[in-house]
Amino acid sequence: MTSRDLWVEQKARRSGLAGLDAFSAHYELKPYRLEQLYRAAAKELVASFDAITALPKTLRERLESGGFALDSVVPVVIQRSNDGQTSKGLFRLHDGTEVEAVLMEHRGDRNTICISSQAGCAYKCSFCATGQAGFNRNLEAIEIFDQARYFARELKAKGKNVTNIVFMGMGEPFANYDAVMDAVRLLNDPHGFGLGHRHITISTVGLVPQIDRFASERVQVNLAISLHAPTDELRGRLMPVNRRWPVSELMAACARYAAVTRRKIFFEYVMLAGVNDDDASAHALGQLMRGHLYHVNLIPYNATPDAALQGTDPSRMRAFQALLEAQSVATTVRVPMGRDIAAACGQLRAETQPRARAS
Ligand code: SAH
Repeated sequence: MTSRDLWVEQKARRSGLAGLDAFSAHYELKPYRLEQLYRAAAKELVASFDAITALPKTLRERLESGGFALDSVVPVVIQRSNDGQTSKGLFRLHDGTEVEAVLMEHRGDRNTICISSQAGCAYKCSFCATGQAGFNRNLEAIEIFDQARYFARELKAKGKNVTNIVFMGMGEPFANYDAVMDAVRLLNDPHGFGLGHRHITISTVGLVPQIDRFASERVQVNLAISLHAPTDELRGRLMPVNRRWPVSELMAACARYAAVTRRKIFFEYVMLAGVNDDDASAHALGQLMRGHLYHVNLIPYNATPDAALQGTDPSRMRAFQALLEAQSVATTVRVPMGRDIAAACGQLRAETQPRARAS
């Protein structure tokens, strides 16, 4: 199936038709009309049917009144950080479910959109606001794609382009594997949204079978692993998933991925004061990274409602980074953005939804 047909099929289902053929028949659409519709939405990022001037007005009206929606996600709250660089959106889906996406404009040169793959998350990492609120449902590919479309349109209005998309919003992308890969296809299609694979990053809690499957896809999409601790004892306390796939099995899967794809892997490490930021952790982490094309991203912790955790202070973070560099491990410290608008994973929904509703 082409990306266009995938898009139409997803949209048709959302509007109550059984799929591509039923949709084309219902609206009496020839393939070139589908092409015009897809192009307007996915490439030109139109906000409304009015703007699709390539289609006859009567057709546009029939589509709109027939319940065909250009957007499967509707903004409920859009917050902007004081410095104007971060916009965070809470979006409502057709069934009332809410998910978050974030746009980060890094001083003009890089524009990153962070999108959700699930409403909620089942993995319950102790430091994560989304995990604390529990799992709601998987998103459809179109619901993932339309989050990106929303912020890409905002950028376009300012004469800017999307440069990166990261699956680091709510949910575990590899627990919704097929929809995520379909969304990647839509994002990547050169005739549509047109974002190169190398500009897309999927972040996973560390689901070993899916890491192997992803290695076999032959796509240039980046892989990020949420490691956060170098030992089973510590990682098991922070991330329940470690009981299913302990550090050794996870690292073995990463080595297989690296061997098959020859691609660099990014490891995320959220720095928690007195928990995973001691010298011994830096050495153990260095040992895990040794001899591979691996990169460690040290992430300042964003406080969440439930966790009795505190972030590592900046000077300790630099010391930890120096210990890694002394072991020849490539590292970066992630610059926190949008803290004033609770832009970390799951935070906005946690603020707007009463806890009872969220769980
Ligand atoms: N489920 C995926 C992607 C979602 S979160 C995963 O686990 O990778 C994206 C990243 O944000 C993950 O590395 C996650 O561990 C991290 N994260 C979650 N809560 C955080 C917090 N409160 N502060 C900083 N980073 C956090």
